[in-house]
Amino acid sequence: MGEPRARGRFGEYGGRYAPESLVEACREVDEAFRGAWADPGFRVALARLLAVHAGRPTPLTPAHRLSEALGVRLYLKREDLTHTGSHKINNVLGQALLATRMGRRRLIAETGAGQHGVATATAAALLGLEATVFMGERDIERQALNVFRMRMLGAEVVPVTTGSRTLKDATSEAMRHWVGVTGDSHYCVGSVVGPDPYPWMVREFQRVIGDEARGQCAAELRTGVPDYVVACVGGGSNAAGTFAGFADTPARLVGVEAEGGAGAARGRLGVLHGCRSLFLQDDDGQITEAHSIAAGLDYPGVGPEHAHLRDLGRARYVAVTDDEAVGAAVRLARTEGIVPALESAHALAWVIRAAGGGDLPAGSTVLMTLSGRGDKDVSTLKELL
Ligand SMILES: *Cc1c(COP(=O)(O)O)cnc(C)c1O
Repeated sequence: MGEPRARGRFGEYGGRYAPESLVEACREVDEAFRGAWADPGFRVALARLLAVHAGRPTPLTPAHRLSEALGVRLYLKREDLTHTGSHKINNVLGQALLATRMGRRRLIAETGAGQHGVATATAAALLGLEATVFMGERDIERQALNVFRMRMLGAEVVPVTTGSRTLKDATSEAMRHWVGVTGDSHYCVGSVVGPDPYPWMVREFQRVIGDEARGQCAAELRTGVPDYVVACVGGGSNAAGTFAGFADTPARLVGVEAEGGAGAARGRLGVLHGCRSLFLQDDDGQITEAHSIAAGLDYPGVGPEHAHLRDLGRARYVAVTDDEAVGAAVRLARTEGIVPALESAHALAWVIRAAGGGDLPAGSTVLMTLSGRGDKDVSTLKELL
């Protein structure tokens, strides 16, 4: 998993399908990121922020009791233990630091359930930047607590009233807004989606998950490398970051999507938010709404690199239902004392299903990224259980 080819292509996916003014802004982000990523000073500054503010490195936890029950050896990469409770902080600290390097004074972000918005507001407060977060009106109603959190952190939350008033519309609105303010604002995209350079830049900021896990597996596992590497996939950033650490190993890579948002498993070629990739579409080619109990998996498509990895057969993409994810969340809580985010519970649901169905041979070693903690989901779970 190296750099994309010319013009941000991963195979036939990716690219920069945006209005001229944004193409120029993306070019500036690309140039700044390349400079920063090649600069040891930037790397050291980011590593320090990740350590002293976000709590990295995160542990690798053997899931002893669950492993015994499943007949495999399961290890959890604990992104749930980061500050703000999910892997999103890795990317946001990287982009916020890049924004200051570019002389920008404000971050723009889109958010669905509010996780990326909260992370962006957090990073902005830490580095003395302003933050403007676009959020669908329906999501604002459903996620009042995260809206309050963002405002408490000093961010402006802008309600989006167009379309279905959810994440897809919030993203479109954030991009529209960026057109007018590219000189002083950086658009902080929340996953490995959007126009080039975002898909690979966000993956590079998330590869800290995979790089750490690789070293931890080398120390912990007799074989050094797990047989399977598993992560949930919304846009695909925690999976891309995890996979990046194991790209050059024989580990089998598995991305787990929500049944109602399975862009990689069931999407068709399309263009959305500046990027050519796989999206859920109706017969007329209109991109449809995704539906998942896990808000972070509620995106109708998948990042271009995942589409490419799927075509290459390097990674495989599977889908699990809401019910399977809820069952997996309860099981992890009761066997390991960890309440996972419902997004992460999708990855675990596949591990449970595959161990039971013979898809995961007995005795396999499995590294699974636990992308976030379940605190945000307890009221959803309380309604169901
Ligand atoms: C946002 C989110 C996801 C999905 O995003 P990816 O870009 O696919 O990683 C997964 N888990 C948690 C906890 C999230 O907050």
